[in-house]
Amino acid sequence: MRRVDRRFEFHALRCRQCDDNPRPRVVNPGAGEAGHDGVMADALLFDLDRTLVDIQSFTDYGSARREAAALVEGFGDVAVPATDWSADTVAAMSLLVACSGDPRWAQVSAAIERHELSAVPSSAPMPGLHEAWARTADLPRAVVTLVPEVVARAALAWHGVDCAGVVVIGRRADQRPKPAPDGVLAACLALGVAPGRAVMMGDSLWDLEAAGAAGTAFVGVPTRVGSMPSDAIVALDLLAAVDLALRM
Ligand SMILES: [Mg+2]
Repeated sequence: MRRVDRRFEFHALRCRQCDDNPRPRVVNPGAGEAGHDGVMADALLFDLDRTLVDIQSFTDYGSARREAAALVEGFGDVAVPATDWSADTVAAMSLLVACSGDPRWAQVSAAIERHELSAVPSSAPMPGLHEAWARTADLPRAVVTLVPEVVARAALAWHGVDCAGVVVIGRRADQRPKPAPDGVLAACLALGVAPGRAVMMGDSLWDLEAAGAAGTAFVGVPTRVGSMPSDAIVALDLLAAVDLALRM
């Protein structure tokens, strides 16, 4: 594997919405801090929604949230990372976080899953999806997502993405959802890769926090300027994120 010294490596990274305004940044994956020593990645982890496929924009999370909320009472607000998701999406996902570990979680998840699954035929591939997927075919890969595995696989299959041999860690009762690190750790375990040797890509702070908590390097593909911390590594789009990740 090739070693690179990231302390002096610069990339002109551009935000999706500022193509004419490149923002040079020092790329420093936090060697030592996250257990990543600057060696090329042994595995790649992808968030699904709005990283590989946009499902959220086509899911009726308003109805999902109402149906799910009717199943449980007494779960108040929980602290979750800020995101660019719709209020209904945040509410639905926050409810899942809030009732994590509760016996009623499965019912809540199933109520939301019905709406997510019905959105698959309307969902949209993120720019560069197929090229990025082809470019990373030689590396162990996993999808770590807040939607159930059946939804993730259905969405990827709908868009012609071959997931044979790809680990998919979806929403499930026996692990805490992002921003907890459980899904990232489960993916690394399934791939037989140490968390510090993998790179996670995602569009939201939930992904960033999950990767950080797992000790996994992270490349953001945010959909809005400024939605990631100023010291986060961000890329213009999925393809650019993959290019960065392959060098980490
Ligand atoms: Mg996402």
